[in-house]
Amino acid sequence: MDAERLRRDGRRLLEAMADYWARIEDYPVRARVRPGEILARLPEAAPETPEDLDAVLRDVETVILPGLTHWQHPRFLAFFPANTSTPAVLGEMLAAALAVNGLIWEGSPAATELEMRMLEWLRRAIGLPGDFRGVIQTTASEATLTALLVARERATGLRARDEGLAGLPPMAVYASAEAHSSVEKDVGIAGFGRRHLRRIPTDDAFAMRPEALEAAIREDLARGIRPCAVVATLGTTGVGACDPLRPIGEIARRHGLFLHVDAAWAGSALLLPEWRHLLDGIEYVDSFVFNPHKWLMTNFDCSAHFVRDADELVRTFEILPAYLHTRERGRVVDYRDWGIPLGRRFRALKLWFVLRLYGLEGLRAILRRHIDLAGELAGWIEAEPDFRLVTGPNLALVTFRFEPPGLAGEALEDLNRRLPQAVNDDGRTYVTPTVVRGRAVTRICVGQTRTERHHLREAWRAIVEVARGLVSPIDRRSPG
Ligand SMILES: *Cc1c(COP(=O)(O)O)cnc(C)c1O
Repeated sequence: MDAERLRRDGRRLLEAMADYWARIEDYPVRARVRPGEILARLPEAAPETPEDLDAVLRDVETVILPGLTHWQHPRFLAFFPANTSTPAVLGEMLAAALAVNGLIWEGSPAATELEMRMLEWLRRAIGLPGDFRGVIQTTASEATLTALLVARERATGLRARDEGLAGLPPMAVYASAEAHSSVEKDVGIAGFGRRHLRRIPTDDAFAMRPEALEAAIREDLARGIRPCAVVATLGTTGVGACDPLRPIGEIARRHGLFLHVDAAWAGSALLLPEWRHLLDGIEYVDSFVFNPHKWLMTNFDCSAHFVRDADELVRTFEILPAYLHTRERGRVVDYRDWGIPLGRRFRALKLWFVLRLYGLEGLRAILRRHIDLAGELAGWIEAEPDFRLVTGPNLALVTFRFEPPGLAGEALEDLNRRLPQAVNDDGRTYVTPTVVRGRAVTRICVGQTRTERHHLREAWRAIVEVARGLVSPIDRRSPG
């Protein structure tokens, strides 16, 4: 390893990274390339002999950057954010240089113990009770899978782990109709069978209806299907709805079901005391996940997973080959036993940088700014006579429709299906199409670290302009 080279080339790369951030607003937010276009510009095989860094950086500029969708663009309003920050980048660079593997405590005691402390900091910051213990998983999808596997082993007394599911009665998992697709994927992977995921109807606010949950559980019991776990969502992907934890928790407790909470995006907002009421009923919860890699200025990947009974988690996953016997086993946390992978990156480091260099107050200020901006956006939407706010603001998420006079039925529906695509082709901002109660809507989530009022204002003006262009006679006549 060459420290001198790292010093020299590292400085240059840092300059390139900073330049990218400085001019990011000049790019169209979504990549303007056709499928295969980037692939065709990359050599078919690796070089036999070393190239120099200049050549690589040139290709970053000419091949890679034009093929990026710029998630860190302050007018990025699509999906959920996957934001980053200077502290996160610094922590990530350091982690890459240290390159330790925190599979077990001995693999790097500081990696394990910093992760324990960071998850404790996060637990306090979002107001989870003191008996929750945390671990960083790669994604919320993986944390939910982990939780469902624990639920499965609790229900079968580790029999599923050791004997397999054959011969056991079918088991069901419950989540709202608005729950994330990863829940269905995980239910399949965990061996419940996707057919045994019950999608519980929602109320006017798109939150799970507890009485419908109760009814679904009773129906399964009557058919000899064993209810196993409930996945409640705080902050659904479509509209940002929050399931009521208390009534859901009471039902889960009464029927002995495992309760996992998927707060992938919205969990970060729990740093704000004014949103803590979303945790009402947390005493019934067994497992809780949120993604600092979405809305807490920490670059992907970093998913914070908390469980109330860490021993149950360890029992589900631990396996002890001879080469992993260590003197400290049993006295320390070996995070390999807390999830699916063996090897683990030093992700706690970037969290440490983020939490220290912002401070919780610094993070709260950014979250509040995003939420306030979404509120303002809702006002702008309502102020336009030809736009209609459909949902929200839910935290920093709104959905709306464009409803110009004289259009109705399928023509109006078609217009609203085309709008987000046209906005994204325009390039000044990037939004997501979705469907609410069977109607096409445009969905906006504010959350990129640097998004300020003027960015959102510019994005909204672009949307209005593109929308009205779709129905103006002049535009209809122009080609393409
Ligand atoms: C984003 C999201 C997920 C998936 O997150 P990953 O970390 O990408 O797996 C799951 N659930 C909800 C509610 C989400 O918003």
